[in-house]
Amino acid sequence: APVYELTNVSKTYARNAVIALENVDLTLRHGSFTSVIGSSGCGKSTLLKIMAGLIPPTKGRVILQDKPVTGPRRDIGMMFQQATLFPWKTAVENIVLPIEIRDGKAAAKQAREKAHDLLDIVGLKGFENVYPNELSGGMAQRASICRMLITEPAVLLLDEPFSALDELSRDMMNMELQRICREQDATAFLVTHSIQEAVILSDEIVVMKPRPGRIAEIVHVDLPRP
Ligand code: ADP
Ligand code: ADP
Repeated sequence: APVYELTNVSKTYARNAVIALENVDLTLRHGSFTSVIGSSGCGKSTLLKIMAGLIPPTKGRVILQDKPVTGPRRDIGMMFQQATLFPWKTAVENIVLPIEIRDGKAAAKQAREKAHDLLDIVGLKGFENVYPNELSGGMAQRASICRMLITEPAVLLLDEPFSALDELSRDMMNMELQRICREQDATAFLVTHSIQEAVILSDEIVVMKPRPGRIAEIVHVDLPRP
């Protein structure tokens, strides 16, 4: 069974009557990596927000793991362009926060070791007890990855997570992300501006077109993987 199944999804923003998405059908296979590309305003972020349950579609169905998406869920991990760490919590405290919210303080304390391991993986060993204002933008994004991964979500929704990084760091983070997805058997959906990035990372590339936002084409990528 597919992990995600979107049927006939449309979105009109009532406030300005913009049709951001029209009749989008999309299926994501378990363990697949899908990128979505397309010009600004073609509905990429809207699509991702609907998949995340952050905004409702005007029309259509969104099914994730056999259940309709009606709001934010525990099986969804998300990352955005800007890191959203709480400034009054250290890196580790930020990373275990999803566990604390879900399972309480004792569980969060137990998860600290795992948070340390994740920080190590993204090259932030030694920054466990540092506050976000002492981290660079790229480091804060790496910590955000750890926070997303600590609950081992089945699905990762990524809205240009590394676009603020320089090219070298972005390539490194992308490779790391790809590796982690495979290791955790996660299904990934990435909004990107870079065709190159999409080709390198993805099994499928969804090409969108604007006014109204719709899927123009889905390209299957068949490259040998490292
Ligand atoms: P409201 O007035 O309904 O609270 P806002 O103006 O606060 O809505 O917008 C909510 C979010 O949507 C903000 O993040 C804003 O940047 C974004 N937004 C609003 N209008 C547009 C638009 N036309 N295009 C893209 N983003 C928009
Ligand atoms: P993309 O991510 O591809 O740039 P978006 O999903 O942000 O596209 O936007 C699709 C269309 O919907 C655009 O015309 C945008 O202005 C509009 N839009 C996005 N968010 C809002 C919002 N909160 N309120 C009104 N219009 C919006």
